[in-house]
Amino acid sequence: MNILVSSCLLGIPCRYDGQSKPCEAVRRLAGRHRLIPVCPEVLGGLPTPREPSEIRPDGRVYSRTGQDVSEAYLAGAREALRIARLHGCSLAILKEKSPSCGCGRIYDGSFTRTLTAGDGICTALLRRNGIRVIGESSKELEDLFTCVSDSF
Ligand code: SF4
Repeated sequence: MNILVSSCLLGIPCRYDGQSKPCEAVRRLAGRHRLIPVCPEVLGGLPTPREPSEIRPDGRVYSRTGQDVSEAYLAGAREALRIARLHGCSLAILKEKSPSCGCGRIYDGSFTRTLTAGDGICTALLRRNGIRVIGESSKELEDLFTCVSDSF
């Protein structure tokens, strides 16, 4: 099956700090599935490296110095959704805690490393459009390694 994946989990250095976050459990799925890498923040036109950003309680995204970058985050999320549809992805494996890709828990907007319940901007848009999103530490990755059908 085709699976949308956060680019940084596949070793692409697209994170805000110019680094990647390679995840072996995700990478090995490439032997069973077609992985479609996307970085919503880059797709939204943001540079690499870039200032770290977090979602505030009002739902908007701000950089550490207070710049409102919500529109870039939304644009990147829409582009990731377009790519997911183009490839028929019904599942996405995205980087946990990110303001774009986070899944269930994200930083709270205070830049104090405090986590709160919530999804990243891209994750929320994908979910609203019927795409299932899981994080890289999900136990479901093991099932995906043994499953090759679209029915997962
Ligand atoms: S936006 Fe997503 S894919 Fe891009 S660096 Fe952040 S977590 Fe990784």
